[in-house]
Amino acid sequence: MAKLYFYYGAMNSGKTTRILQCEYNYKEQGMRAIIMKPEIDTKGNNKIVSRIGAVKKVDYMIKKDENVFDLIINEYGHVDLILVDEAQFLTERQVNQLMDIVVDLDIPVMCYGLRTDFKGHSFPGSRRLLDIAHELTEIKTICECGKKAMFNVRLINGKVATEGESVAIDGVGEVKYTVACAKCFSMKTRKKFDEMSDD
Ligand SMILES: [Zn+2]
Repeated sequence: MAKLYFYYGAMNSGKTTRILQCEYNYKEQGMRAIIMKPEIDTKGNNKIVSRIGAVKKVDYMIKKDENVFDLIINEYGHVDLILVDEAQFLTERQVNQLMDIVVDLDIPVMCYGLRTDFKGHSFPGSRRLLDIAHELTEIKTICECGKKAMFNVRLINGKVATEGESVAIDGVGEVKYTVACAKCFSMKTRKKFDEMSDD
């Protein structure tokens, strides 16, 4: 029986490398894997780039209100595997539709994405995947102090940002990210975890 998988981690944990490797393995076995990615801006960033330099054009960019279940039925028919990069940007409904693909069409779906944003809150897509995926796998990466990095820190022009939208908007300066363990995240953002509460 097919399953819905969620591989989650902080940034730069090698998620994209795994996607490319997985697609390659399927192809080598004569099977068909497709790579999809939610469209989050108008830049048409339809490539995935791994840390080790491999670049690949994704097969399909998922639009914000698109029904992914219908898309697979109408445009693809049977595939052996669906890989989703940047799965944190899926909507809750799209994650549910991916589960329908798994259950009704018996196609395994492997989603890769960030657990939380730079403010330490889960993205809607990640939250739903953490709710319903059959299998959850944390992809670990390391903080500069040597502990496991769980958080993403947004740097704007080299300074740590603690406010702003989950997706950085163009034109605010040079946006970069780094990863941190819980303790370093608290220190870098100069916030206790209780101060990060929504209420
Ligand atoms: Zn640390």
